[in-house]
Amino acid sequence: MAKYIFVTGGVTSSLGKGIFAASLAKLLQSRGYRVTIQKFDPYINVDPGTLNPYEHGECYVTEDGAETDLDLGHYERFLNIPTSQANNVTTGRVYQTVINKEREGAYLGKTVQVIPHITDEIKRRMLLLGKSGEYDIVITEIGGTVGDIEAQPYIETVRQIRWELEEHDTLICHLTLLPYLKSAKEVKTKPTQHSVKELQALGVMPNILVCRTETPLTDELRRKMALFCNVEKDSVIQAIDVDTIYAVPIEMQKEHLDTTVLKKLHLPSERINMSKWQDFLNKLRNPHGEVRIGLVGKYIELQDAYKSIHEAFTHGGAANSLKVIVESIHSEHIDDNNVEEKLGHLHGVLVAPGFGNRGIEGKITAIRYVREHGIPFFGICLGMQCSVIEFARNVLGLKDAHSTEMNPDTTAPVIDMMAEQKKIKNKGGTMRLGAYKCDLKKGSLAFSLYGTEHITERHRHRYEFNNKYLEDFEKAGMIASGRNPDNQLVEVVEIPSHPFFVGVQYHPELKSTVDNPHPVFVGFVKAALAYKNSGVKKNAELKATALA
Ligand code: GLN
Repeated sequence: MAKYIFVTGGVTSSLGKGIFAASLAKLLQSRGYRVTIQKFDPYINVDPGTLNPYEHGECYVTEDGAETDLDLGHYERFLNIPTSQANNVTTGRVYQTVINKEREGAYLGKTVQVIPHITDEIKRRMLLLGKSGEYDIVITEIGGTVGDIEAQPYIETVRQIRWELEEHDTLICHLTLLPYLKSAKEVKTKPTQHSVKELQALGVMPNILVCRTETPLTDELRRKMALFCNVEKDSVIQAIDVDTIYAVPIEMQKEHLDTTVLKKLHLPSERINMSKWQDFLNKLRNPHGEVRIGLVGKYIELQDAYKSIHEAFTHGGAANSLKVIVESIHSEHIDDNNVEEKLGHLHGVLVAPGFGNRGIEGKITAIRYVREHGIPFFGICLGMQCSVIEFARNVLGLKDAHSTEMNPDTTAPVIDMMAEQKKIKNKGGTMRLGAYKCDLKKGSLAFSLYGTEHITERHRHRYEFNNKYLEDFEKAGMIASGRNPDNQLVEVVEIPSHPFFVGVQYHPELKSTVDNPHPVFVGFVKAALAYKNSGVKKNAELKATALA
């Protein structure tokens, strides 16, 4: 039977429970344990798919097509194993299940209540992955903060699970904040004491306290926290601010978090091997050079909106021993008059995924500029679709070309909805979602990047390249180098005469991990360096040939 670790948060949100959970999981995995992480989110949305990225950051899509919380991205990037629908549960989904059962008459006339019906459903889902036999340890992150009304059924369920299982089969790590008060020149423990009290009032006693802090914890502070919060002194773990999230597992190892956890779960501490991780960290911290990449999108005010893209650049940069400086550029602010000033200094441009009309023309203008100037280009999902529209307008001369998402009446619908999608009315969970096959054309850039012909990548979109136009595109120099072998949908476009111009209909950023940096990101960063080294003169020459 699997062991269960629960991660709760006190004092405030944004303490980094997801990174902590992923770091602990990484350490346990590096000691030979089979670990998975799941996240329980207390909001009423059935999944985060319908949430605006401004609300909750990016929506992370799993292999099986679940639209999930972005913390699942951290889990995958750290552990290098895929998650699934079962790894992310929201209050909305729990209630939906219970209400559906009630409608089917499954509760036989009983009054359906939070306790036991909602908590039973939460419990079933919390224990599900542990019962699969695939994991030795299941880490469950509870979203939100202890004390939130919405979080109560989850904490109550944890209480019940703790009561039902053997003492050494469960463990609670409570994340908390130790603020440093400048005026008093002191680290304050009172908020932590209160949040532990709050947990205890719900019948749950944490075993390990993980303390976010700007300054190192003194021995005296550790002793005080242990005494007042009812934990052992070596269970007070310092989580000090670090330069990169990828340093957290190493910091946690220094604090002996993993051995403390294993001791409490009565599991042997197998030899740890973090050498690959440490290599990555060394490369990340000691780059040999840098490249500057523009990220053109419309949610740039919030870093979390393009989380996986930023992380994939971190992986792709380290793989090249380069620092990637990502410059976020608002697509709404780009026009013909300022495009040179906004993009001229960049070594590569990525046009981001997205929905809706806002900022579209800026993206198209940006793509025209990089296409004509030989600047490496990487388009993802909507970014790829924009590159198709741009090519149609400016190379094929189809001035009215558009996606029917933005202009349903366009006379040149080069991006259009598939027939099956047109019938769908509901917004939630109805896109082309999850992993699909793609075959790459031998000899193409995509093929050389992946080094293989058959790949699968994850999708999240409704619109597609309109195959009616494919022949015209290919004749004019933009080819489909990746297609879905089952339905011939275009998955990758590229311009062979350009140094690096790739648009992908899928989301490669979702599959980039520390152990497996994504080949298109790695190749794109490399191309950016080549462009940088080639200098401006070369670019001017390219421009001349493009115009000839
Ligand atoms: N809005 C586009 C579509 O639905 C692209 C989606 C995306 O970029 N994820 O097809």
